[in-house]
Amino acid sequence: MTEICPLNDCTGCYACLNICPRGAITMQENEHGVLYPDIQQEACIDCGLCQKVCPMCHSVELLPPRECIVAYAKSPAEQQTAASGGLASVVSRAIIRRGGVVYGSSAANAFDVKHIMVTEEEHLPMLKGSKYVHSKMGTLLRSLQYDLKSGRDVLFVGTPCQVAGARNFLRRDYPNFYTIDLVCHGVPPQKVLNGAIRYAVGDERNDIGSIAFRKKDERGRVAYGLYIKDVHGNEIYGKDISRDLYSLGFMKALFYRPNCYRCSYAQPNRVGDLTLGDYWDRENTSELPKERRFGMSMVMVNSDKGQKLMELISQNIMTENNSMENFKRHNAQLVHPMKEHPMADQFWTIFKAQGFAGTEPLMRSIMRKMRCQTLIAKASRLIYKIPLAERIIKKILRRKS
Ligand SMILES: Cc1cc2nc3c(=O)[nH]c(=O)nc-3n(C[C@H](O)[C@H](O)[C@H](O)COP(=O)(O)OP(=O)(O)OC[C@H]3O[C@@H](n4cnc5c(N)ncnc54)[C@H](O)[C@@H]3O)c2cc1C
Repeated sequence: MTEICPLNDCTGCYACLNICPRGAITMQENEHGVLYPDIQQEACIDCGLCQKVCPMCHSVELLPPRECIVAYAKSPAEQQTAASGGLASVVSRAIIRRGGVVYGSSAANAFDVKHIMVTEEEHLPMLKGSKYVHSKMGTLLRSLQYDLKSGRDVLFVGTPCQVAGARNFLRRDYPNFYTIDLVCHGVPPQKVLNGAIRYAVGDERNDIGSIAFRKKDERGRVAYGLYIKDVHGNEIYGKDISRDLYSLGFMKALFYRPNCYRCSYAQPNRVGDLTLGDYWDRENTSELPKERRFGMSMVMVNSDKGQKLMELISQNIMTENNSMENFKRHNAQLVHPMKEHPMADQFWTIFKAQGFAGTEPLMRSIMRKMRCQTLIAKASRLIYKIPLAERIIKKILRRKS
């Protein structure tokens, strides 16, 4: 076998690497740092298993959501430390309390964001939060299969392409296998993040610990950005998107894996038993109590197992019915993949030659443009409001006269 699927389609799900009976497949970085399977020809026996499990060669069935719900964890502590409403954490806790295992992404080592297996509640905080980078799977799908065969409940949380990879790798439906897929913008390669970390804290520091991409204040407001801690847990760098170049590039789709711009999972039908995303209630229509909200999750229940998970956590969450139409209005990634930034080629050319630091002038120009766009958006919102305000004032004046 020389090629499993066209490289530009490869999502880096690791299903091929995990299935190979000869250990002939490793993941290798290209010049952008994007990980692709590399087949050692001397070891390959042409069994074709890698293609059989590749979701780009054999697509997995997508499920139309049965229910669309807005929800958040009842526990404010659970919410406050989570990406949005903390639903992934609440489900994970419930699975572990039943003696199960959770597979999810950890950024405990900022330079090596990867999926890990968690069996103890006290280790669940490692999975919390959205990591805006490709989370590596390693050979974890094999241990996931082992856990399933031994009869334990297994929860796998990941991007839709990762869930598709895990499902295809297993090649059968285990009754004890539960999946949560995330609504996803796209994932940059770790190499870009590593460059951004070094650019942020300098080359000398050798005490870098964990990383986060969102910060919530005591009122539940979220700041997207890059937040780096040292090995002792002290924040050594923290800037929000208005000042941090990596989070800006992430939000603007400047440096994702190539497949992300053609993602076939950026649509309403889903690959997981549950789908989770952000729901910010910007129009203030939710009737759920506000004083206990530190973010809300958009939840899609896509299967019987998804329903079972929701029943399992029903005592620990607040919920409200919603609709796919509304979700699609709030979240473009349920309708189409992110469009690659027009300056992406320029970014990669500079990144290859000079590293992340070299891209600073380009990134700053994108930042200036973003600030300009934000200003224009704010101004137009204000102008939009004026005729309304005018009409109200006129009405009041008419009543008085
Ligand atoms: C790269 C990325 C892009 C996203 N883009 C969008 C978007 O455009 N719109 C939207 O509505 N929501 C998006 N999300 C989802 C959203 O940010 C939250 O992850 C989701 O709402 C779950 O929140 P929570 O509070 O339940 O999660 P938490 O309880 O905080 O748990 C987070 C869960 O996410 C998993 N996770 C974190 N990072 C990764 C990763 N890199 N790869 C795989 N799994 C990961 C962890 O394993 C954990 O289980 C994105 C998430 C990621 C990781």
